[in-house]
Amino acid sequence: MHYQPQRDLLQNRIILVTGASDGIGREAAMTYAQYGADVVLLGRNEQKLRDVAHAIHQQGYSQPRWFILDFSSATPEQCQELADHIAAEVPRLDGVLHNAGALGEVRPMIEQTPESWLDVMQVNVNATFFLTQALIPLLLKSDSGSLVFTSSSVGRQGRAGWGAYAVSKFATEGMMQVLAEEYVHRNLRVNCINPGGTRTAMRANAFPSEDPNKLKTPRDLMPLYLWLMGDDSRRKTGMTFDAQPNRKPGISE
Ligand code: NDP
Repeated sequence: MHYQPQRDLLQNRIILVTGASDGIGREAAMTYAQYGADVVLLGRNEQKLRDVAHAIHQQGYSQPRWFILDFSSATPEQCQELADHIAAEVPRLDGVLHNAGALGEVRPMIEQTPESWLDVMQVNVNATFFLTQALIPLLLKSDSGSLVFTSSSVGRQGRAGWGAYAVSKFATEGMMQVLAEEYVHRNLRVNCINPGGTRTAMRANAFPSEDPNKLKTPRDLMPLYLWLMGDDSRRKTGMTFDAQPNRKPGISE
């Protein structure tokens, strides 16, 4: 995407990023801070979150708040409690990037273990939904809220071997579409990003033999991540966007 945002694109915006401890989420949190946002970091690993918060502060931006939530065990009550804690610290949320995700097992459906299936659904769908429900009141306090889910190409077209992960990403697209319609007359837009194959730990797990140097880095994707959080995308809702529109799905040869 050729998008050149103003440096103050996200000034006065408060944006929460899930899975902010690593990979694409870490980069998105750093980038949103660089463009003026107050970021709220969410993750399950305290040390990694502290490091990201420190790195943002070291670059001269305001110290991010961070909160711990393990999506593998998150309940609706815990998500509400977390939302209450956040509401005690910030007046509203202008953006939520749902980025945390679990890959599960890359193997045929018949070999998917129930434990892994349930964990992927819990992380990618259930906890994401519980948290969304809890955070929507804070998003509705913004004059232009942006709720962004993270999808995948296997969440639009099923592909052999992608099991629970693919099914969870179809569910993610569905959740986005339902919510987008429900808030179409409010100041809340709801969209999905499909990052496309990106150089992260998750990708390396999925394709251990792939040369990571052939992949885009999280930083390369940031124009779309910025655009969806800033005012330039204000009229877009119910859509799914590719961060790498011309990329063919699958392994990079
Ligand atoms: P990473 O594995 O690098 O990062 C995943 C993030 O999610 C980490 O912050 C991780 O935390 C967090 N996370 C995982 N499980 C849990 C959990 N149980 N509770 C809380 N947080 C959790 O992956 P990517 O950056 O590659 O993935 C980001 C998103 O992009 C995912 O939704 C993924 O499905 C999607 N995506 C990625 C693609 C790629 O090629 N990389 C392609 C298409 C979609 P921790 O640091 O503690 O592990």
